Amino acid sequence: MYIGIDIGGTGIKGVLTDKNGKIICSGDTPTPESSKKIDKSIIALIDNLISESKTDKNRIEAIGIGAAGSIDRRKGIVISSPNILCWKKNPLAANIEKISGIKTFLENDGTVACAGFWWENEGKNFKTFIMVTLGTGIGGGAVIDGKLFTGQNGSSLEIGHMTVDVNGKKCTCGNRGCLEQYGSATALVKYTNLNLKKYKNSSIHKRLEKEKLTAKIIYEEAEKKDELAVKSFEYISFYLGAGIANLINIFNPEAIVLGGGLSKSSKIIIPYIKKIVNERAMTGMKERVKILAVKDQAIIPALGAAKTAMDRLKHIM
Ligand SMILES: [Zn+2]
Repeated sequence: MYIGIDIGGTGIKGVLTDKNGKIICSGDTPTPESSKKIDKSIIALIDNLISESKTDKNRIEAIGIGAAGSIDRRKGIVISSPNILCWKKNPLAANIEKISGIKTFLENDGTVACAGFWWENEGKNFKTFIMVTLGTGIGGGAVIDGKLFTGQNGSSLEIGHMTVDVNGKKCTCGNRGCLEQYGSATALVKYTNLNLKKYKNSSIHKRLEKEKLTAKIIYEEAEKKDELAVKSFEYISFYLGAGIANLINIFNPEAIVLGGGLSKSSKIIIPYIKKIVNERAMTGMKERVKILAVKDQAIIPALGAAKTAMDRLKHIM
C-alpha cells in the first residue's frame, strides 16, 4: 500500500491507497508556519491514515509527497516555495523518511495532480495532455507520449509563471506579467476588489457585510449572473485562454485538464477559455483539443503522489 501527501499553502491532504489506486482512507490537516511543524503535521497525518485504516505499518511500501514550488525530485529537496516561505533548501523527503521509517519520494504539486488524473479512468484515455492547476497560484504538469514529464529536476510546467504580458505586473518569482498574476484565484479576488466601487449594485456588496471576499463568493454570485462577478471571471479567463493557447501551440495535446480549487468554476470559465483558444491557437491544433476539468480536484494530487511513489519505488528496486 502507498501513502500520498499533497501540501498546499493552507492545507495538507493525505490518502492511503492500494496498488490499483483505490483510496482506502483519506484525511487532512492545516499547513503550519514552520518547516519543523509541517514535518510533524505530515507525520501525524500519516499515523492517522495508518491507524484509521487498521493497516500494519510494515505494509506501507512508500510515501509520495507533492509540494508547490521549485524542487529537486531526486534529492527530495524543496528549493523554494512561493506559498510556503519557510522552505529554503528543505530536505523534505529525507526528513519524512527518517521519522516515518518509510521510503519517501518528492514531486512537484502540478506533477502529482497530473499523475492522479492519469491514474483515474478518465485520464487513461489520453497519451498527451497538460494539467493546469488553478488555485491561489497556478501550476501544471504534463503527460507526453504516455510518460509523465518531470523536466530536468522535477520543476517543469510552471504554467503560472509563463509570461502573458511582457511589461506586466510584478510576480513573486521575480519576473513580470506571469499568468498567475492574471488568471489565479488570487487575481480573481484582486480584480473584483478593485472594481467594487464601479459596480454599486453588485450583489457582492451585500455578501461583504458579513464575509471577506473569496473566489467562492465571486463564483456563487457569478452563477446568479451578477455583472461584476461575471466580468471578473471573464477577465481571468481571457488570460487563461491566452496561456492555454500557448500550451496548445507548443504541445499539440489531446486535452487540457483544469485542476485545483478554482476548477470548480469550470462551467463558467471553460466556455470563455474555449472562445479565446479558438481566436488565438493555431489552426490544425485547436480543433481537436478537449478542454475539461477534473471531477474530484480535492483528492487528485494526493492520489497522484501515491502513484508516483509506487512507480518510483518500482524503478529503484
Ligand atoms: Zn512569476
